Amino acid sequence: LQAVHDRRASPPVAGAMRDDVVRTLTIEGELRQGLDNDEFEPFFQPIVDLDTGEIAGFEALARWRKPDRGLIPPIEFIGVAEQTGLIREIDAVVLASAWKSLASAQEAVAGKKGRSTKPLFLSINIAAENFVDMQLVANVRKLLGTAGFDPSLLKLEITESGLINSPEIAYRVLTELRSLGVSIALDDFGTGYSSLSYLHRFPIDSLKIDRTFVNALASSDRSRAIVRTIVGLGQSMSLKVIAEGIEEESTADMLREMGLQYGQGYHYSMPVGRASMQQMLLGGGLGGS
Ligand code: C2E
Ligand code: MG
Ligand code: MG
Ligand code: MG
Repeated sequence: LQAVHDRRASPPVAGAMRDDVVRTLTIEGELRQGLDNDEFEPFFQPIVDLDTGEIAGFEALARWRKPDRGLIPPIEFIGVAEQTGLIREIDAVVLASAWKSLASAQEAVAGKKGRSTKPLFLSINIAAENFVDMQLVANVRKLLGTAGFDPSLLKLEITESGLINSPEIAYRVLTELRSLGVSIALDDFGTGYSSLSYLHRFPIDSLKIDRTFVNALASSDRSRAIVRTIVGLGQSMSLKVIAEGIEEESTADMLREMGLQYGQGYHYSMPVGRASMQQMLLGGGLGGS
């Protein structure tokens, strides 16, 4: 590749490409080290029942707590993690850690109130790279084996790209996961190419409407039509529909009127660390302290 490139491109471009390679290799090394040192942790964003305003569950979102740099968001490391396959390990760490944190937060709340509250679901992002073998199924099965885990409270968020490359294996993985009682959500719905064929072929039970459509609800007739169509699709196929990126009360109102059940976004809460998540639950929910 380098040879071909050298013949065709001018030196500055080749230089830029080399810089990219160096950068990728650097991040890869740091990612490995970060995994060894346990530097990855989930943040938690509440998913709200739009009718009651109560927290129904949380989406876990990876953060890299790097000693020399502080808290790093996914946009800065997910790409390289995917290219190198390290995302599989990160996803496994986030899954196990998020489950443990949510379970212990709920235990703390039950201890304080003297009774258990409505169990919350946990949504986890699963990268396409996990759909090449059965390792994910083994990880989930192991987690479910730990005491008190109700599989119906675990939701795995996948994107179409996870299904495109090797649909046969993806189908087997999803079918196995469903047989364990876990549910599957299609993330960023509406931004891919052929969502309907995936809904038809794969055992999917929830749709997450991408925030680009949700954000534009008030200003764009087209976005409103798209969201309304997705909600209708969900209703007629008995799929749960969740809106992401709700930033305004007026957007939540419109979604509720359209019959949408669940939503998440900065209007309710940004993703927060484990301690704040537990505080949120102890305080009785979103406006609590
Ligand atoms: P996603 O799964 O679609 O997650 C939603 C993203 O939107 C999150 O960004 C969240 O913080 C952000 N968000 C939530 N509400 C709002 C809002 O009201 N306005 C705006 N502008 N943004 C909002 P985050 O945490 O930076 O994650 C970005 C993406 O990185 C995720 O998109 C997901 O694709 C990926 N990701 C995050 N954690 C993991 C992980 O553990 N594993 C894998 N494979 N991917 C992950
Ligand atoms: Mg997601
Ligand atoms: Mg999403
Ligand atoms: Mg998204």
